[in-house]
Amino acid sequence: MKRVAGIFTVLVFAFILSSFTLNAAEVTAVPSSHPVFVDNEPVPFRAFNIGGSNFFMLRDIAYTLNGTSSQFDVTWDGERGAINLLTGQSYTVLGGEMASGDGVAATATPSAAAVYSNGVPVNLRAYNIGGNNFFMLRDLGEALGFEVLWDETLRAVIIVTGYAAAYEYVPASQPSPEIITPPVVVPGGDRLVWVPRTRNNIYHSINDCGRMNPNFATSYTHTELHARGYRACDRCW
Ligand SMILES: [Zn+2]
Repeated sequence: MKRVAGIFTVLVFAFILSSFTLNAAEVTAVPSSHPVFVDNEPVPFRAFNIGGSNFFMLRDIAYTLNGTSSQFDVTWDGERGAINLLTGQSYTVLGGEMASGDGVAATATPSAAAVYSNGVPVNLRAYNIGGNNFFMLRDLGEALGFEVLWDETLRAVIIVTGYAAAYEYVPASQPSPEIITPPVVVPGGDRLVWVPRTRNNIYHSINDCGRMNPNFATSYTHTELHARGYRACDRCW
C-alpha cells in the first residue's frame, strides 16, 4: 500500500511539474493585422503573430490553396495519431474553414501535434490557440512547396503557389515590364531566349511564361546558353 501511495505521489508530482512546464511555455498570440495575398488575390485569413512569425490554421491554408499546384489534402492517420498531409491532392472540405477571428489576443501553448507529409514526418512549429492548432506559415510553405514573401510597400504577407520554386513574385509597386512573347530571331538565324534571375539554369522562349518575373529576365542567344548546358523550359519551349 505504501508503495502504491509512493507511485501516486510521484504521479501527482509529475502532473504538477508538467502543468508547470506547460504554463511556463505559454505565450501571447496577437491577431495579425497584415493583409495576406495568395497569388496576388487578397484572402481574409485568421492569423496570429507570435514572436514575429505568422501562424495559420492548416485547414485554412489547405482550403485556400485547393485548385492550385500547391494544393494538398489533410487527413488523420489514426495508427500514428498524426496529421498527414497529401501533397498534390485536392482538399477535402470539412466545414468551418476560413472562420473569422474575434481580433483579440489569445494565450498560445506549443503544440505537440505530430505531422507527416506523404508519410514522412515533418517538423512544423505550431501553437494551440483556443483548441485549434496554428502552424508557422513559413514552415508550411517549406513543407508544402509554396513561397512566403513579405511585401514592404503593402506591409503584406504574400503566398506564391504554383511553380513556387521557379516563380518570381512581382511586387505591386513595380511598373509593368514590356512582355516579349513571340520568339525573337536575331541576325544569323539564332533565337533570343530568356533567363530568369533565379533558377537561372533554364532558358525560356518568352520572357513571361509564368515561371519568371519579366522585370528581371535577361536575354541571350539560344546557341550560347545551349552550349553552356542550360536546359529549355518544359512549359514554353
Ligand atoms: Zn518557360
